[in-house]
Amino acid sequence: MWVYLNGEILDSSEAKISPLDRAFTFGEGVYEVIPSYNKKLFLFSEHLSRLKSSLEKTFIPFPQELTNLEEVIYQLHDMNGFLNQSFYIQVTRGVQEFRSHQADPVIDPTIFISSQNLEINPYRLNPERVGLRARLEEDIRWSRCDIKTTGLFGNVLSLHDPSKERVDEIIFHKDGIINEGSRSNIFFVKEKTVYTPSLEQNILPGVTRAFIIKLLKENDISIFEESIPIDFINESDEIWLTSSTKEIQPIDYINERELPKKNTESQIWKRILRLFD
Ligand code: PMP
Repeated sequence: MWVYLNGEILDSSEAKISPLDRAFTFGEGVYEVIPSYNKKLFLFSEHLSRLKSSLEKTFIPFPQELTNLEEVIYQLHDMNGFLNQSFYIQVTRGVQEFRSHQADPVIDPTIFISSQNLEINPYRLNPERVGLRARLEEDIRWSRCDIKTTGLFGNVLSLHDPSKERVDEIIFHKDGIINEGSRSNIFFVKEKTVYTPSLEQNILPGVTRAFIIKLLKENDISIFEESIPIDFINESDEIWLTSSTKEIQPIDYINERELPKKNTESQIWKRILRLFD
């Protein structure tokens, strides 16, 4: 597998990063995941804008090398060969010789890019397949989830708890209000109207979320971005997740309980997935 590290394309076994990188010692890194279909990047400029925003919010200077990010990604695309890929782009504050909470003002950010085969959303091939299993959990993450940081301990912690059921996704809630998944945004449908938590909440502004909201509006489907109480789960006709690699996927089980099946013929998520396709 070919990867990009600080200006060079290397075999992944040759790519070395110092343990003095502040991403290693302080978890100071931001990232993006960008999909490609048929060798074409999807929503590249939206991902680039969010990367710029994450860098700005973390006071990591925008590296000059990133001005030709698209070119570098296409080069890796060719070298790694898969038709559909997901690109992982990480930028850290950089390497600092002597450990200190306060970073040196002149360190260069570290830039790392890798790619892997993108498994196409299985619900595109078979929308009837059984939906995902999810678990509700109190949101224990920090309060800047608008930044796409690599500090994901709060997102993944309970996935490693052997006493808990293995699930496809965790749904975070705080003070009785749903936020998002541990790696996805969440949508609800009730009586042909779509609801998703507002960006004023502590959530990531998902690129797929924004794209789907646009699709919904273009197709005259009502969509409200507002705060959604946990109980809304019981009143919903559909619940789905969105992300750059998942696209749109339905949830069938929450906390080991199967959600009642409603209006399976006219489900909005299926229509949106067809439009997405
Ligand atoms: N929320 C979180 C916490 C995520 O990790 C992700 C996926 N990276 C998303 C939402 C979805 O974002 P996007 O649609 O930009 O992939």
